[in-house]
Parts: sequence; structure tokens; C-alpha cells
Amino acid sequence: PAAVEFRSVSRHFGPSSAPVKAVDSVDLTIAEGAFFAMLGPSGSGKTTCLRLISGFESPTAGEICIFGENVSNTPPHLRNVNTVFQDYALFPHMNVRDNVAYGLMVKGMAKAQRYAKAEEMLALVHLDAYGSRKPGQLSGGQRQRVALARALVNEPKVLLLDEPLGALDLKLREAMQDELKSLQQRLGITFVFVTHDQHEALSMADSLAVFNDGKIAQIGTPAQIYAQPKTRFVADFVGSSNVLPPALTQNLGGPAKWSSLRPESLHLDPSGPLQGTVTSLRYLGSGHRVAITTQGQDIAAILPAGSPLPEPGAQIQLGFAPAALHIMDE
Ligand code: ADP
Ligand code: MG
Repeated sequence: PAAVEFRSVSRHFGPSSAPVKAVDSVDLTIAEGAFFAMLGPSGSGKTTCLRLISGFESPTAGEICIFGENVSNTPPHLRNVNTVFQDYALFPHMNVRDNVAYGLMVKGMAKAQRYAKAEEMLALVHLDAYGSRKPGQLSGGQRQRVALARALVNEPKVLLLDEPLGALDLKLREAMQDELKSLQQRLGITFVFVTHDQHEALSMADSLAVFNDGKIAQIGTPAQIYAQPKTRFVADFVGSSNVLPPALTQNLGGPAKWSSLRPESLHLDPSGPLQGTVTSLRYLGSGHRVAITTQGQDIAAILPAGSPLPEPGAQIQLGFAPAALHIMDE
């Protein structure tokens, strides 16, 4: 069975006459052993979804199954699921070892045994030398790893991570992304990872759900979500795509529908169909981003480093391979 399954799950708050639809009729299947990401803007329902999986929140409609068992009415501690929170939620007065062993103590495990387990988990996250420190004596990244060890010590079948890297600076964040990914692969545990950062979701996940307003706008692999967004919302949110209105799509030889064109699929082409004035030119390090205005629409192109650059204000033409014009549903 799937690790997690939602069948028409809703979680509404407030009066039924004017509910806040935090999660609204969501269908979702997360395969066992997957690194699954939930991506969406703030307020789109990601945290509520995690809380529904962990059991801290109950659905107002629908059913939730974990490994085939309907857990809709099962309390959190009987679900075999653990959560790593963005703010880590460590106990400040306890040292690292006791923080990690806490869940095992609650379960009644003997001290020697739970300390051995805690040491094993600390080694897993490369903190074996830090067991006697207090959380306040650790860096942000180290605290994050303690929170991870504390969740993993319970041997959950599903690990939920709610924006776990949100408080880290970019460099540390990237290092932790690699570390989390390799940890998940070694342990084979199903990870459900919430983020509002599209790069993080695309680079880490085996598959992901894009949330918008309590609903799933699209589910797929990173490549599917990136290259074949179903809607304007997904195209916009998941990358700096050019979103073209139906009239322009038609002018480019497509149907009268919204379409998307990735900036990196555009190139300078003297006979290309997109002709316009260069309105901005920005150096990206790996190349240049050139924006033109054509038929009232701003279009961005990423030109690789070393290719000839137009001047701002110049008239240029951009072309693309026909398959790059991606037609969307709405
Ligand atoms: P995200 O994690 O994607 O930022 P949330 O799941 O936290 O989104 O919230 C989704 C929506 O549900 C938001 O509009 C939020 O204000 C609302 N919401 C979440 N929890 C509650 C609650 N306990 N009571 C009322 N509204 C809530
Ligand atoms: Mg949230």
C-alpha cells in the first residue's frame, strides 16, 4: 500500500456558513520510500496537510490512510509518524542526548538502551561529539540536525518535515539539502517535505504536489511540474516562466489557450517569431537574462554565457523549438 493516502480530504475552519478552506477535497497518494515535497505559497494549506497526516488535526471530510490503515480517528502517538518543525522545538534545558532520547524515555525504554539509540542517531547526523551540549550552545544547522535525530530515533515509517531549512542561511541550507536527501536514501523512510521554495522542492523531491488555496494544483515529478505545468499558477510559481495569453499563443501557431515558454528555451534568431525591444538586460553569472516587450507582453530569455548580447533598446527577434511552447489547461 501507499505510505500516505488522502481520499477527498478537507479541513475547514470557522463557521460552515463562511469556512476557511485550509485543505479542500485533496486526493493524494505518496509512495512508500518516496521523498515527497509539498510546495506552495504561504497559506496554501501545506502545514494543515502535514498536521492531518500526523494526527494533530482531524479532517472535516474524507479519509486518511497510512500504509493502508484508515487513521482518520487514530491519535498522533499511534500513527508511526514523526515531525521535524521549522523552529526545531528542542527542550532548551536538556542536553542534546536527552533531547534525542526523550521520545524513547516517554515510551519507557531503559536509560542505557535509549542513550545507545540516541548516540546512534547523533552519529547518523554527524553530531556524535555534541551529546552533552545544550541546544543554546549549537549553531542553527546543528540544532536542525538534533531535531532530525530526535524525530528519527522513534523509527517512524513516515517523517514529516515542515519547512525544516527555512531558518538557515543559503550555504548551510544547500549543505543540509544534500544531507537530508542522502539520509532519506540511506534510511529508505518516506519523507514528506514542506517548502515554499521551488528550487528546494524541484531539486530534492522524487515527486511533488503544488498547492494553491487548499487544493493541489498539480502532482508529478519535478521534470513534469517544471516542463509541463498544467496551469498558469503552476507555471508562475515553479519557475520564472513566460506565461502567454491565448491570443499570443495563437500568433505563435498554437491553439487559443494559455501557454508557457521557459526563458532558457528562447534564443536569438533573426527570423524568430517573437520580435520586440530589449527592456532589460541582467547578468546572472551563468548567463544573461534579456527581457523584451512584444505585443504588449514581457518575455524573458536566458542567453548562455558567451553568446552575443543585444543593447538595451535594440530591436531583436527570439526563436524557440516548436516543442518548447507548452499549452496549458487554464
Ligand atoms: P501553509 O502551511 O501552506 O502556509 P496553512 O496550512 O498553515 O498554510 O494554512 C492554510 C490556511 O488555513 C490559512 O489561510 C490559515 O490561516 C488557515 N488556518 C490554518 N490553521 C487554522 C486554524 N487553526 N484556525 C483557522 N484558520 C487556520
Ligand atoms: Mg506552513
